[in-house]
Amino acid sequence: MHNAVIIGGSRGIGREIARSMQENGWRTVVCARHETADSEFTKNSGVFFLCDAADSKQVEALYRHTKSILPSVDVLIVNAGMAWEGLIQDMPEEVFDELYRNNLKSAFLCAKQFLPDMISQKSGNIVFVSSMWGVIGASCEAAYSAFKAGIIGFAKSLAKELGPSGIRVNVLCPGFVKTEMTRHFNESVVEQMIDETPLGRICTVNDCANAVLFLCSESASFITGQVLNVSGGMVT
Ligand code: NAP
Repeated sequence: MHNAVIIGGSRGIGREIARSMQENGWRTVVCARHETADSEFTKNSGVFFLCDAADSKQVEALYRHTKSILPSVDVLIVNAGMAWEGLIQDMPEEVFDELYRNNLKSAFLCAKQFLPDMISQKSGNIVFVSSMWGVIGASCEAAYSAFKAGIIGFAKSLAKELGPSGIRVNVLCPGFVKTEMTRHFNESVVEQMIDETPLGRICTVNDCANAVLFLCSESASFITGQVLNVSGGMVT
């Protein structure tokens, strides 16, 4: 049985990744900052742990807890993130810092904490969840796009650094998905997204989970340092 840690898995895309992995026989440890009704699900067939992935002490506690449950960590999925929409001149500095913490610092801290064991075992697999906006940029989401682009640079560099240790590192870049994060967008925004998408629909949590399962599978054993755009052709 394979073991995975999913950072930011209490709802939305992360929850579906956790659910699909469990359905496919993976043992999972899932974390988020808050309990939710959804996280009840992960408690049943996986383990849920409260952790702010942008706080090094809490990530260390997550690591210790994981070690007490799983014999090893084969896969680390870093999905935590938050968005903010608005003109850059209206963005409070604290919000910029908060976006940095949740979207990029969390990736750094989690990779740093879980990598030494992967290096020792000479195998491992990391998937960072970025966004198509990290590839092409989004108006009114400049800081979010910057940190999502940062994840891509981080992952590509780690892929080079860690390939010789048998560790693969890839990035998932979803298109627009209806989740808590995007709940405030009205239907006309969703319609516009659909119009701009060659495959004529928005992305689903299931599309994301399927792509992650592929990246974590043996079928992807020669794939590292790659950005997988799951955007229905919006990003080519
Ligand atoms: P979501 O519904 O808001 O879920 C975000 C998850 O991350 C929640 O479980 C949240 O739980 C957790 N989280 C956030 N900050 C965290 C932290 N510091 N430490 C631990 N957990 C944290 O968002 P989503 O739409 O599923 O997005 C998931 C990822 O996909 C994000 O990285 C997002 O940027 C990316 N993405 C989303 C879309 C989209 O259209 N929805 C498109 C492209 C990329 P807590 O708040 O309880 O911590």
